[in-house]
Amino acid sequence: MSALSTAGPEAPEEPPLPLAIAFDNSYARLPARFYERVRPEPAPDPRLLVLNTTLADELGLDAGVLASPEGIAMLSGAEVPAGAEPLALAYAGHQFGQFVPALGDGRAVLLGEVIDRDGRRRDIQLKGSGRTAFSRRGDGKAVIGPVLREYLVSEAMSAFGIPTTRSLAAVATGETVHRDRPLPGAVLTRVAASHVRVGTFQYFAHRSDADGIRRLADYVIDRLYPEVAGAANPYAALLEAVALRQARLIAQWLAVGFIHGVMNTDNMAISGETIDYGPCAFMDAYEPGMVLSSIDRHGRYAYGRQPQIAQWNLARFGECLLPLLSEDRDAAVALAVERLSGFASAFEAAYFGRFLEKIGIADERPGDRDLVTNLLTAMQTGQADFTLAFRRLADCALADADAAPFLALFETPAGIETWLPAWQARIADDSRPPAEAAAAMRAINPAIIPRNHRVEAALDAIVENGDGSAYMRLLEAVTRPFEERPEDADLTAPPRPEERVAATFCGT
Ligand code: AMP
Ligand code: MG
Repeated sequence: MSALSTAGPEAPEEPPLPLAIAFDNSYARLPARFYERVRPEPAPDPRLLVLNTTLADELGLDAGVLASPEGIAMLSGAEVPAGAEPLALAYAGHQFGQFVPALGDGRAVLLGEVIDRDGRRRDIQLKGSGRTAFSRRGDGKAVIGPVLREYLVSEAMSAFGIPTTRSLAAVATGETVHRDRPLPGAVLTRVAASHVRVGTFQYFAHRSDADGIRRLADYVIDRLYPEVAGAANPYAALLEAVALRQARLIAQWLAVGFIHGVMNTDNMAISGETIDYGPCAFMDAYEPGMVLSSIDRHGRYAYGRQPQIAQWNLARFGECLLPLLSEDRDAAVALAVERLSGFASAFEAAYFGRFLEKIGIADERPGDRDLVTNLLTAMQTGQADFTLAFRRLADCALADADAAPFLALFETPAGIETWLPAWQARIADDSRPPAEAAAAMRAINPAIIPRNHRVEAALDAIVENGDGSAYMRLLEAVTRPFEERPEDADLTAPPRPEERVAATFCGT
């Protein structure tokens, strides 16, 4: 329960654990109105489900200790290690376009921050460890399915090379959590460059707390965008830098067929990391209008709308910064508009940059973007599988290659049969040999993605039968996504019609 106060090195409520973590909690040094001090709720019977030993190592944490009873006690919320100062962060947000003035960490607790092996400051957060001052009517808990889903998808995104929050561990709490039915509870340990969101700025803007906005902006510049600190107008430079990171992020999402599903402003991290994996999904057949989230009834967050939505969210961010941009309101608005105006071209450059790489073109020439667009049009018409199309295309780089497996992905040959020889001629004429282009394509186009039907089946096996083997196999495969092994055939294959998942649920 939200026992306000005392956790901290000066007045520990419990004896310190042998877990030696060098916490350095910068957010806890911000004014008290930025968060609520809380203690995670203890789990009755914690059991480690999965531990990310590679990430633990990156963070300078001992994986062996994390897997021990003391470590599991921390990862389940039962014990607060020395130096942690657990906080629930305040934020607001637009949810499906509707402004909600007070959201906040209703089921998450920031344990503290560590400096990783590369010198980067990282948040360590428990998600699902009980109620906070921001829980409203929620129970503050999470359940095994969504926790393991977030773990899997975030680690896949990281393996694709896409900025994302990471997953350090998932622990079953031994508690029954009530949703539409009783479900096993779990806690995810999430790691982020920072959990500050667009919605964090909105929280202070809505309260006309100009001092809060300035402190938050200064905090963010110091932690995430030190390069803008010396700009003539650092806050305008921050706005532009955040927009650029988002433009690149969304281009990377589109390049792997990722649909976030809930791009509310509280789910957009200022760091430029993908955050809050709820009903997110990867599309199978290419369809720009694709919506998979069960809660996105009007397709606001459809695959192809994600760039516009990011821009909309950034406009909300810009509004929050207005008091910092200029004392004159009109001048501030003009400056915000100007600094956000680069989004569209930055997105387009990142998008085509990525898709040209996907089709193996090293040096862009006039007309190459049409090759990308025409391929996508043929894929849409032919209902081609997005992931496999790029993967099998690599096998067609040599003019005498067998193109049959690629062409077989298209329901109708119209379009693609004329596109392919044009592309082959272009590849033959590029600055590098076709065999090198093919190898580069295989290094950027994943073969293995967390396909919905595989994810759902793996989670069902755990929740219904306690069998984690399919999940662990899928997790191992998606974290080496560019390597296609013969035994992976069932993981790379698109769903058969009867296997297709029509909607994904976030099942909070
Ligand atoms: P999300 O859908 O994860 O982006 O969460 C939206 C808001 O609802 C955030 O403020 C969450 O903290 C809150 N929330 C979601 N699930 C719960 C829950 N089970 N208990 C309390 N708060 C929750
Ligand atoms: Mg959220």
